Amino acid sequence: MAEQIVAYTLGKNLYLNITNRCTNNCLFCIRHTVEGVGYDLWLKHEPSLEEVLAAVPDPTRYQEIVFCGYGEPLMRLELVRKAAEQLKQMGARIRINTNGQANLIYGRNVVPELKDLVDTVCISLNAQSVARYVEICRPIYGEKAYQAVLDFACCCVGKIPRVVLSVVQWPGVDVERCREIARKLGGEFRLRRFTGTLN
Ligand code: SF4
Repeated sequence: MAEQIVAYTLGKNLYLNITNRCTNNCLFCIRHTVEGVGYDLWLKHEPSLEEVLAAVPDPTRYQEIVFCGYGEPLMRLELVRKAAEQLKQMGARIRINTNGQANLIYGRNVVPELKDLVDTVCISLNAQSVARYVEICRPIYGEKAYQAVLDFACCCVGKIPRVVLSVVQWPGVDVERCREIARKLGGEFRLRRFTGTLN
């Protein structure tokens, strides 16, 4: 089977590249940049649970094990649950970087299924309004995606130990309004700077 990168290190963390699928197509998506994250994260096939676990022989060597992509990790909810469960038993601290649309994707609240498996959820808020979100993130669900992200964050607060709402500094994004939204939702706020070169 062809080689592909399922896990890669950045700083003290190990990142798991489990899917290239996503329900958004953000203008600033790293998939559209020349540099990416410095690794070729285009998958030839989505890794199985066995392949994911084989990529993390000792999770305690890392500060966090992060489910991410080049894509939306919760497109693979079952794999995330099963892998997180096993990695947690091995002593891992688990983070999920998500677009926050999982409840919309599955048509149910999936947060209870992640409770006790996930230490941190980092949700891409990305905009201060529906209109701006649609313009920047171009969700397949259209306008209802933004409210779904806010509702998902609400569901996570109090269930997942650490909830972070993030925003990429991008033209038209009102960072202070986003910070206020995060505060009202009860989450932490993180501003990320866009450093890539778009294709
Ligand atoms: S949510 Fe993330 S993976 Fe999906 S398009 Fe936006 S930046 Fe890319």
